[in-house]
Amino acid sequence: MSSTSQSPDPHLGAESNLEKSVQFLKGVGPARAELLAKLGIHSISDLLFHLPRSYDDLTNVRTMDQIEAGVLQTIRGEVVEIEGKELHDGRRVTQVVIADAQGKCVAGVWFNSTLIVGKVRYGQQVAFSGKPKWYRDHWTMNHPRVQALDDEEGKLEIVPVYPLTEGLRPEHLRATMRLALTRAADEVVETIPDPTRTKRAYPHVAQALWQAHFPAALAEDVNARRRFIYEEFLILQVALAVRRRSVRDRQQAPKLATTPQIDAHIRKLFPFLLTADQDRAIVSIVKDLASDRPMQRLLQADVGAGKTAVAIYAMLVAVANKHQAILMAPTEVLAQQHWQTMENYLAKSRVRRALLTGNASLIATQEHGASSVAKRHLLDVLKAGDIDLVVGTQALIQDEVEFAKLALVVIDEQHKFGVNQRARVKKLGVDPHYLVMTATPIPRTIALSVFGDLDTSIIRQLPPGRQKVLTRWQSESQRERVYERFREELRKGRQAFIVCPLVAESETLDLTSAVEHYKILRAGPFKDFRVGLLHGRLPDDEKQRVMQEFRERKLDLLVATVVIEVGVDVPNATLMIVEHADRFGLSQLHQLRGRVSRGPMAGECYLFAGVTTDEARERLRAISRTTDGFTLAEEDARLRGLGEFFGTRQHDLGDLRFGDLLHDFD
Ligand code: ADP
Ligand code: MG
Repeated sequence: MSSTSQSPDPHLGAESNLEKSVQFLKGVGPARAELLAKLGIHSISDLLFHLPRSYDDLTNVRTMDQIEAGVLQTIRGEVVEIEGKELHDGRRVTQVVIADAQGKCVAGVWFNSTLIVGKVRYGQQVAFSGKPKWYRDHWTMNHPRVQALDDEEGKLEIVPVYPLTEGLRPEHLRATMRLALTRAADEVVETIPDPTRTKRAYPHVAQALWQAHFPAALAEDVNARRRFIYEEFLILQVALAVRRRSVRDRQQAPKLATTPQIDAHIRKLFPFLLTADQDRAIVSIVKDLASDRPMQRLLQADVGAGKTAVAIYAMLVAVANKHQAILMAPTEVLAQQHWQTMENYLAKSRVRRALLTGNASLIATQEHGASSVAKRHLLDVLKAGDIDLVVGTQALIQDEVEFAKLALVVIDEQHKFGVNQRARVKKLGVDPHYLVMTATPIPRTIALSVFGDLDTSIIRQLPPGRQKVLTRWQSESQRERVYERFREELRKGRQAFIVCPLVAESETLDLTSAVEHYKILRAGPFKDFRVGLLHGRLPDDEKQRVMQEFRERKLDLLVATVVIEVGVDVPNATLMIVEHADRFGLSQLHQLRGRVSRGPMAGECYLFAGVTTDEARERLRAISRTTDGFTLAEEDARLRGLGEFFGTRQHDLGDLRFGDLLHDFD
């Protein structure tokens, strides 16, 4: 609902005053127009939709007996004293005292401003609005708003408080606003259909604008605002629905049927029973795949909840229908991980599998197992349709990669979301179905709004027997005790991670600290154990080797930067320390600790942090308190704000002007 050229404001009529410059209004010259422009206000319409930040409710009138400290209120009385003096510290103070008929009084106090002296006179009836406090033996108000009650203009009203900019006087903006409303409010086009508006008892847009700017009572403003928020969400949803429909109507996807035989055959490949949530997701996916409209589905689940198993199910449906399917991971490590998972399930099947990343091209078949092949060769067989399933990285969507009969694209976004959802694979002929997986649980409210053009499946339930991760925020003094706990568990054959942060701005510094930390641990507290080091600067094959050693239990302890955040599935690893935990976001911490709940044993995660901000403190408390990813995601969005939460400013929300996805959703 911005008035920029690419998205015309639906409120604008064809030939209205609304689009005219604010200079069109009396009293607004070039200078004031420039100030308004700083607030993003250019047209009269911009001005009308510049809603107050808050209100000063001057209708809250108290008698002198009812005065309450710290609450905005209005007190009436007669001016009985006007006095100026200088304080010890050199500040000038002006004091105006008003009294009621009983002689009870309140003092208005102004520092370094004598303007008030010219505005009031002895014996005059005035109203002070402000927050009183008790000072020594009497009530005072600092810089109260003063209104002369004998003045025709003086009214006790609700005064809008606007976001301002240096040099713009509030009373001027209020006057200009009144003028704009009088001139142009009636021209604003109503976009909420009448029946909807009536049903919800929302005021007409013109009335709502008046009420939002100059409410007669505070309830009025709330209802008017609700109307604008509702309207904004309505437009967003309609836009998403239109986009979704136009995508579907334009595209043709292959119909992939799932027969009971296919279903039974696929299920037999898993060494476990699928959970009810996995089944529910599969039912939706099966239905989508059977249609000739491409599936656009988002699969959300916490780390380790079993998304990959669901994705493999879907891919095998494509294969059973003699089509190809691909699974694209964000990193090399994760692609390798998925490859391994898939090999576990499919080693004995006839499905022809391949891995394609920047560094690796592999083909695996029932007869020959897995073996490296020349990339050229792999590309040829993909194009010939002699491979059924491919796992890989972004390498999969390069131009040179072509598929004979691609029917399904699975994109694993791990801890991001939305960013790649529309990544397009070079297609031959038909459009494939899309399944996007994310391990960052998205608050329901956000998912519905942002991904209104995607269908959503959620797996909340963890596979049976999965334990919660005990999470403790520890003080430095407990470090030795935690180390002792680790040694005890490592002796029993468990494995552990020690995670050090790596932030882009000071990569080198953090790297040294991870390396230093590794040296210290290896020489000191864990000298009797096999300690490995893994960080982003290692060459890829070195990374693979270290991970492999850890997986094969040739290492007891792995000191790592966040590279382990994605793609480490070592059920025997049950312990984790996160250093400088305050530097990690909530979702990141949650992802990290997910690494020590991959098996049947309860994981333990210890956080060390030199905490500097309240926000960091709240984060660490939240992560210690809850293990539910959805609750944390909501908390995360609340603490960081949505922009940060999405990690990009380019999300599809545009700028919500009135609504807040978290607070206004219901
Ligand atoms: P995600 O992709 O959501 O992180 P995965 O599909 O990789 O989760 O599953 C995590 C682990 O749980 C894997 O070791 C997998 O074999 C196991 N798993 C998945 N689904 C089930 C299930 N229904 N019952 C038991 N174990 C499961
Ligand atoms: Mg996974």
